[in-house]
Amino acid sequence: MQYTSKKVYEYVSKQLNDPIVERKKCRLSWQEFPIYQSDLEFYDKVSPTFEVSEEYAKDFLEKNNDVKDSFEYKDWKLKAKIPTPTLCPEEREAQRFAFRNEMNLYISKSSFSSKNLISTISPDKNYKVYSYQERENNNWKVCYIDINNKPENFSKNMDFLLHNMPVRNRYASNNENAEYVNIVANSKDSYLCFASEEVDKCYYNRYNTYWSYCVDCYQADYCQNCYDCVKIDHCLGLFHCDNCINCSNSYYLFSCTNCHDCYNCSNLYNKSYCINNKEYSKEEYDKLLLNAKIRPLEKIYIWCKQDSCENSFWNNLLDCKDCMFIWSGIKCYNIKYTSFDLSDSNSNSENCIDTYYSASSLCMSLISCRDSKSSGFVSFWNNLVNCWYCCNCFNCSDCFWCVWLKYKKYCIFNKEYTMEEYNKIVPEMIANMIRDKQRWEFFNPQLSYYGYNETIAMDYYPLTKEEALEKWYKWSDYESPMPHVEKIVQWKDLPKQWCKIIKEKKPEILEKILKYAIVCEVSKRPFRITKQEIEFYVKHNLPLPTKHPDIRHQERLNRKDSTIMHLINCDECWEKILSVHLPWEWKKVLCEKCFYKNI
Ligand SMILES: [Zn+2]
Repeated sequence: MQYTSKKVYEYVSKQLNDPIVERKKCRLSWQEFPIYQSDLEFYDKVSPTFEVSEEYAKDFLEKNNDVKDSFEYKDWKLKAKIPTPTLCPEEREAQRFAFRNEMNLYISKSSFSSKNLISTISPDKNYKVYSYQERENNNWKVCYIDINNKPENFSKNMDFLLHNMPVRNRYASNNENAEYVNIVANSKDSYLCFASEEVDKCYYNRYNTYWSYCVDCYQADYCQNCYDCVKIDHCLGLFHCDNCINCSNSYYLFSCTNCHDCYNCSNLYNKSYCINNKEYSKEEYDKLLLNAKIRPLEKIYIWCKQDSCENSFWNNLLDCKDCMFIWSGIKCYNIKYTSFDLSDSNSNSENCIDTYYSASSLCMSLISCRDSKSSGFVSFWNNLVNCWYCCNCFNCSDCFWCVWLKYKKYCIFNKEYTMEEYNKIVPEMIANMIRDKQRWEFFNPQLSYYGYNETIAMDYYPLTKEEALEKWYKWSDYESPMPHVEKIVQWKDLPKQWCKIIKEKKPEILEKILKYAIVCEVSKRPFRITKQEIEFYVKHNLPLPTKHPDIRHQERLNRKDSTIMHLINCDECWEKILSVHLPWEWKKVLCEKCFYKNI
């Protein structure tokens, strides 16, 4: 695992005039991490409060004298003060990420109807998996725990609820002919697409919106007919390209804008008919393209990608103000240690720490929980107010340690109380939580539905099985059974000129390949190819893939920007800059001024 260095933390403190008030050692990584002055102000603001009378508060503080420093009574409210964390930002993020399985789907059976369904939860696990419709029918009872009858082992009670409340098989809505997708909406005729919206005839894509006819792409918007690309925007007919905007009909481009008909070029603007960064006439280009060879080219990186930002550090930011340690943010204000925080017309992202895909306000420690306020330690879902330690709850307020509730108020371990009861019971529970040394931190990793290796934690903070278990994560050894195929072929036995063969002898060869499984050249795991995919390869004269989709995805992940900042010197003016890129052979990293002088 990679960690932000002390130097970077110090640099940010100086630049933002935000003093470091404490230096802590992470209890998992032993890395030093800072507590900034602004962190203290945030934890004070986000701490949950409970309306009780002055008399009650006085009694409460007397009764809980041993932990009274963790509470404060002010303005008719009893505040439970959230302490500073004991884990460094990276370990905190890995813990949250370990609750989000995006890409691993299994064929399983509904615990309600025994019908087959496609689920993010593998069939070897002992959870009650329901289809979306089965859950919505409400033919089941909310399972709850009465804290008067149960000792308050928070994690144990939560585990009980997680095992006994029906779990939704996967997140998908308003899709057509797109069964094998997760966290996907308003899409059709697509297969193995994840965390995407408005996709049409797309296969093996992740983080895409408004796409059609694309295969093997990662993080992009408004594109068509693209293959094996990473981070592209408004592009048409791109193959093996990274970081491009508004380009078309090109191969192997890096960081190009407004270009068309180019081959193996880097950092070009408004160009066409270029090969290896050299411009030709259209006639010359068409001739040379037939035998064009890839030459290594120098790639110039800008220190960070930012647009219209103020007082912000980190990468891929648009319209952000006062943000630090955040990658991929749109319209964020005062956000820290966060990723993929995109405000939209419904919700603004402001005053948060430790979130992922949230767009919430005054919240901390969220994973995939949007449009929420004054909440913390939440794994999935949306529209929560004053909710703490909740999993998969929707449109709830004032809930504490709840699971899969919808439109509820004043619940503890899923049991409903009156407002007065709730405001008295929860502070007592918090006092016990502190006494039992249960930290004000994200859920115990053992409460995740998933093994670490099934979640996005593995994409950003890869661990071996041994390392994961040592950090108290779960691990999944489940392997889906191999589907019935006519023949298993080695990748090297695939016909080289297969596109031509198929075009001439269609459809016999096509039908045959559909019945085969191909052994991946890297992982040796067999994989199959779908009909729609083959049609895409034939249309664009592409070779058949010889690697399993998971390996292809991993290779694309390696091409995306890192999420760790380094303090380096600009390759030209030697000014100190913070960048996610480290200069390397053929790789120049420049400050903003020098970057725009160069291109
Ligand atoms: Zn410079």
